[in-house]
Amino acid sequence: MRNMEEAPPSLPLRHLDTLWFQVAGTLCNLRCSHCFISCSPDNHTLELMEAPRIFRYLDDARRMGVKEVYFTGGEPFIHRSFLAILESALQDFPVSVLTNGVLIDEAKADRLRRIADGSRFSLEIRISIDDYEETRNDAIRGKGTFRKALEAYKLLYDRQFLPILTVTEMRDYLSPQGEERDLHGRYVKLLRSVGVDRPRIKVIPIFEMGMLPAPAEQRPVTPEMLRELDPDTLQCSSSRIVAHDGVYACPILVGEPEARLADDLEGGLRDCSLYHSSCQTCYVTGMTCKNF
Ligand code: SF4
Ligand code: SF4
Repeated sequence: MRNMEEAPPSLPLRHLDTLWFQVAGTLCNLRCSHCFISCSPDNHTLELMEAPRIFRYLDDARRMGVKEVYFTGGEPFIHRSFLAILESALQDFPVSVLTNGVLIDEAKADRLRRIADGSRFSLEIRISIDDYEETRNDAIRGKGTFRKALEAYKLLYDRQFLPILTVTEMRDYLSPQGEERDLHGRYVKLLRSVGVDRPRIKVIPIFEMGMLPAPAEQRPVTPEMLRELDPDTLQCSSSRIVAHDGVYACPILVGEPEARLADDLEGGLRDCSLYHSSCQTCYVTGMTCKNF
């Protein structure tokens, strides 16, 4: 265990392969009870990113050889210019969008299909849900969100997208014996029940921060632990996230003052500190916010 007097280890950026945009800041149409960055309709800690600033970051990313771009929030579709931003980004990068799906209706799904058809690169869409049972999901994410997310998934699937259902591994998925139930299998069954023959599912661990209480015992990564690890397994060795107020180490710690690296992308290429207890979750689980 790290001596608390000891400085936390730092991780160099091997290469900036992936650039994330906190396009909607901490603003979201939902207020999920487990949101690790505490997004909600009235959390202005991180504001919506202005479109001209996003276009400048995309220019920088092109120049720096970034390979792929992700848009997240908050909820990206609350940004009025989001579809124009998406269309532009897709001319130069494969793009993934993380959404709760609530704002995707038929018209939006049609528009996304047209944007994808006119793009040089691929568009992936991830839709989040937190339980395969409606009442348990809605208790976390809000009434009606289960149905809306599934509807959005199907609207996109019917338009030749293969969306990825993103689910958070909540603790109560453990049986009394501590054995994990077949989470993946349950979501496959759920998607098949609405006519999806090719389900894609990503399970992510819970991060004890934001709307959830911090762990009783802070267990950051130690320098010794880092020496035993292939650094490429941590996403912060090859990615950064930009928000309205600058560049942060990763999508998990966006908005955390200690994870803010610089005002601009050049400055954000410096080492990041693995100071946070969530770094331990990444270390133990090998988790990435990327699609796979
Ligand atoms: S978990 Fe996702 S959908 Fe829920 S409040 Fe946070 S950003 Fe919004
Ligand atoms: S939370 Fe994970 S991705 Fe973020 S800085 Fe820590 S180890 Fe890296």
